[in-house]
Amino acid sequence: MSADHAAVQRTDFDQFMVPNYAPAAFIPVRGEGARVWDQDGRELIDFGGGIAVNCLGHAHPALVKALTEQAQKLWHVSNVFTNEPALRLARKLVEATFAERVFFCNSGAEANEAAFKLARRYAHDVHGAEKFEIISAVNSFHGRTIFTVNVGGQPKYSDGFGPRPEGISHVPYNDLAALEAAISEKTCAVVLEPIQGESGVLPADKAYLEGARRLCDQYGALLIFDEVQTGVGRTGELYAYQYFGVTPDILSSAKGLGGGFPIGAILTTSAIASHFGVGVHGTTYGGNPLGCAVGSAVLDVVNTPQVLAGIKSRHQRFKSELERIGQQYGLFEKVRGAGLLIGAVLAPAWKGRAKDIQQAAEQDGVLVLQAGPDVIRLAPSLVISDAEMTEGLGRFERAAARLAKS
Ligand SMILES: *Cc1c(COP(=O)(O)O)cnc(C)c1O
Repeated sequence: MSADHAAVQRTDFDQFMVPNYAPAAFIPVRGEGARVWDQDGRELIDFGGGIAVNCLGHAHPALVKALTEQAQKLWHVSNVFTNEPALRLARKLVEATFAERVFFCNSGAEANEAAFKLARRYAHDVHGAEKFEIISAVNSFHGRTIFTVNVGGQPKYSDGFGPRPEGISHVPYNDLAALEAAISEKTCAVVLEPIQGESGVLPADKAYLEGARRLCDQYGALLIFDEVQTGVGRTGELYAYQYFGVTPDILSSAKGLGGGFPIGAILTTSAIASHFGVGVHGTTYGGNPLGCAVGSAVLDVVNTPQVLAGIKSRHQRFKSELERIGQQYGLFEKVRGAGLLIGAVLAPAWKGRAKDIQQAAEQDGVLVLQAGPDVIRLAPSLVISDAEMTEGLGRFERAAARLAKS
């Protein structure tokens, strides 16, 4: 047997890999639509969607086609050249959004890193060296590089890595008075997730985002929306800024943009983009033909009135069924979120037990996510079928019933 096909198992993780994750006991090996199969052939319904990444489920024919066709043609040319898939995807993003310019990278953290660097550079060039402060929200998540993890508002992720980058502060989310008190002439950017994803699927109030927009304009700060989780159809609009009707200056996108292939992007105006002149920023793989070909195919499928409307109707079904299950078994206090980013907030009696519920669901054959210890999060395929929803919700209800009895 060649080394490529040697049998591997979950215990190999503990033996060979850095222990920064605690993966499930089973290993998924194949997926189709909203179903995955593990090494033993067990089938599971996937309501987690690779944490809001697999926006068209697994092995969507349009994405498989885009990737394999591009793989026969051209994988990488470096940024010494441009390439057709990058130009096509950039044009599509510009035509579909507020943006006039696009920068490609490979992940959400890289997109935010680029957004923060661009905001600092813009302020430096336009207003001078004193304007560099970034205001972000408590409990926000923006990635794991040193800069992005410190802009993020969760000390458990940023503590213990030596000196922090300067000029970052955090204000309570959805508290406009706190933002107003913190912002100043030294603020170069305010960064917000339109819905806080990792820390509990907590949507912004529309008035909060409108107020943040007004304060940024008043103080000459850029408004950055981290749409790594909320973007690419997740809310039922292409981007959540359209759902809320508040336009940022810079928007970061990743996760769903590649439907499972790594890609990230920032979207911005040409006036701001001009401050990333030749050589100011870059990345070897950003805008590579493979990722951009897949990203284009994702947008072609997602950004249609039918698919976007389908996300909103699926939201209604998930919300009402989860509310019913929540009431019947005393599990949930409320169900919140938008489109197919849904958070079921645990009732007081279940607080802290999201992991137990996730594990029980898995035993009954349905994958759900947690968002902190008190929220069950769903971020399924945006085109999940009625049958897959019925089956997955049925399995979830069986798990809930079993837990409630125990
Ligand atoms: C996942 C996520 C990130 C980080 O993206 P990576 O691709 O893991 O670097 C940043 N911001 C938000 C809102 C996210 O959900």
